[in-house]
Amino acid sequence: MMETIVSKNSYKQEPWSLDELFPALEGSEVREALAEVEALVQEFETFRARLALELEPAVFQHILQAYEQLVRLVARLGGFGYLHFSADTQNQQIQAFLARIQQLSAEADNRTLFFKLWWKELDEEAASRLLPVAGDLRYWLETLRLERPYTLSEAEERVINLKNVNGPYALLNLFTSLTSRYAFKLAVNGELKEFNREELQVYFRHPDPELRAAAYQELLRVWQEEAPILGQIYQYRVRDWYNENVSLRSFSSPIAVRNLYNDVPNEVVDILLDVCRANAPLFQRYFRLKAHWLGVERLRRYDLYAPVAEVDKSYPYAEAVELVLDSFHQFDPGVASLGRRVFDKHHVDGEVRKGKQDGAFCLTIGPDLTPWILQTYNGRVDDVATLAHELGHAVHALLADHHAVLTQQASLPLAETASTFAEMLVTDRLLAENPDPDTRRAVLFRQMDIAYATIGRQAYFALFEREAHDLIRQGAAIDDLSRLYARNLADQFGEALAVSDDFQYEWLGIPHFYASPFYVYAYAFGQLLVFSLYQQYQEEGEAFKPRYLAILSAGGSDSPATILERAGIDMYAHDFWQGGFDVIQEMVEQLEALERPH
Ligand SMILES: [Zn+2]
Repeated sequence: MMETIVSKNSYKQEPWSLDELFPALEGSEVREALAEVEALVQEFETFRARLALELEPAVFQHILQAYEQLVRLVARLGGFGYLHFSADTQNQQIQAFLARIQQLSAEADNRTLFFKLWWKELDEEAASRLLPVAGDLRYWLETLRLERPYTLSEAEERVINLKNVNGPYALLNLFTSLTSRYAFKLAVNGELKEFNREELQVYFRHPDPELRAAAYQELLRVWQEEAPILGQIYQYRVRDWYNENVSLRSFSSPIAVRNLYNDVPNEVVDILLDVCRANAPLFQRYFRLKAHWLGVERLRRYDLYAPVAEVDKSYPYAEAVELVLDSFHQFDPGVASLGRRVFDKHHVDGEVRKGKQDGAFCLTIGPDLTPWILQTYNGRVDDVATLAHELGHAVHALLADHHAVLTQQASLPLAETASTFAEMLVTDRLLAENPDPDTRRAVLFRQMDIAYATIGRQAYFALFEREAHDLIRQGAAIDDLSRLYARNLADQFGEALAVSDDFQYEWLGIPHFYASPFYVYAYAFGQLLVFSLYQQYQEEGEAFKPRYLAILSAGGSDSPATILERAGIDMYAHDFWQGGFDVIQEMVEQLEALERPH
């Protein structure tokens, strides 16, 4: 591990460099790029007259290249504006620049939209004649046509678009307006305070069990009170979803719409949800274990996210960077050197600074640019894991940088593969290196809480949605839906948790149910997929790596099913998904093996 020793402690917690994009916000480089966007759009507009059934493949290829070139440049400008903004959100000059670029980007999009529309509607024969020259853009072009079998006549589509604005979209706006006005009251230290939802939710993780319960009770009190209104909004949304997608567009079921957007076969989603349901007892076992650590007979639902004694171990930034890179190195030196490249280029802003955007992200702008990472690094175990997560995203993008700007980045079901896998590598490393039980316990509880929140909880959400959509079509009342939700919780938690009656109203406050029906299963899909891959890695060692790297290198150049199939993975196999739960079981067993409190 020469590399590691040579550069030890050399990485500073500093702002990033954006030099690879443009030298400054104002200046000739940006001005020239803006002028070039206009020129490229104007040239592209001349193609409109040439689009025809008998379009020459060579001309088609030329149009695709021109499109790609335009997208690259707009992404570069947009990325530059966004990165500046996220690093200094209160700067008015940057805000103005970003707004200007967003406007430019929207205009470029509108003025070139005719090409995508033409391609979407092109007849099958002409499309299959042109597709072979698309090269790396083949899958991108295919996804544009996925909706074609479900597309109505132009006149019908126009009516739907027009009516959507003041129909379902208006309902969603109403939902947001209504719910963001809610004020939640909670007594903290003897003083009654008013909170918004986010502020209230902080208390779900509070060490004081009374306060945790009170925070949940206040949230659910409001949902119950508002149920007659919110429940109606939900029913309208669900009926509209069915009317448009199943009755008019002929999708086979309400969930099939989402599956098509994710490009995941219906059957695979069914299998995923079945396996999640069959493994509910595993999370129940974890909750019993957690009860023991918290010193209670049985956990209440209020205690699900209760903290189990924090550790105060802190990781200095340079040490964390080396720890992450070293765990990547142990997996594969090539992966580690890609990760190191991000730091060597000074593309990581890890500083703690006022005005910086909250949270963490990795931004990939294009195949010719090393991604950028933003994080507010505070030295906790969580921060080390987040750093690994974002660096995993960067490695994913770099491994796929031989693709086009439109196919480099993985689609939703595979988007979190490298990031979550990287977190697992670092977690294992921390567990291997820390014989002290406090750190081991902190790392494992953290992993298990995440596994539950992304897999168990989201899968049961999707199961609820599936039944709720059916019930509403059969005329279910709001109370019927709350009863359905209570049964869903009973099925999920069994005897392991005491679920009070107020939780039957929880579903009314889940924004995804309203805004993006069935979106939630993607979280379970992504996380379980990675656990399952990790299990294969543990079993196969070296032999697994080329297959894993092939998945990452594919980026977004093919459908998730094809990319996984090429790596020898069968999404249709129960065993594959079960493998993910085996990893979770192992974590539970490790926790069980730790000496327990008396
Ligand atoms: Zn991520």
